[in-house]
Amino acid sequence: MNKREWFIDNEEDMVALGESLGAALAAHSDAAILFMEGDLGAGKTTLSRGILRAFGHTGSVKSPTYTLVEAYELPDRHVYHFDLYRLGDPEELEYLGIRDYFDDRSISVIEWPARGAGYLPQPDWYLYVCVEGVGRRIRIEAQTAKGQLLLQNLPAKK
Ligand code: ADP
Ligand code: MG
Repeated sequence: MNKREWFIDNEEDMVALGESLGAALAAHSDAAILFMEGDLGAGKTTLSRGILRAFGHTGSVKSPTYTLVEAYELPDRHVYHFDLYRLGDPEELEYLGIRDYFDDRSISVIEWPARGAGYLPQPDWYLYVCVEGVGRRIRIEAQTAKGQLLLQNLPAKK
């Protein structure tokens, strides 16, 4: 099974879904790279907040729209939250030292990954978030063997 899908109709459950995704990552993987696709306001940052919560970050999560990346040094992992929406040219990622982020103890969550095409590694998960009626449809596609294993470790519901 390399795909999973959910429909979530409120913010609180969205954070809870992110938290269960993060819990699977925390339990089964030292490092992972997640790409998040979806329009502005779809809920990518909300989902990221849940993922961060699973690693022990309970505070707010601001979109690193201008800084491109926000680093969270949490007890067991470094979690890097990228928002590449305002990236002018993918090459700028070189100046940001992008490669140093993807080490073997870090989780990277990347919003707007298409803006960094050619300068980002292969993700373990591709997450798609889209508005559907009053809620959101969230789909995860595993892109690596590790990503596939991680998907299998998610709870059956939410
Ligand atoms: P993005 O990072 O994709 O631009 P945000 O997470 O910043 O989106 O904002 C999404 C908005 O939609 C927030 O106002 C949030 O409250 C709301 N939202 C998030 N998830 C859901 C959901 N599953 N159902 C309804 N509203 C949601
Ligand atoms: Mg966002």
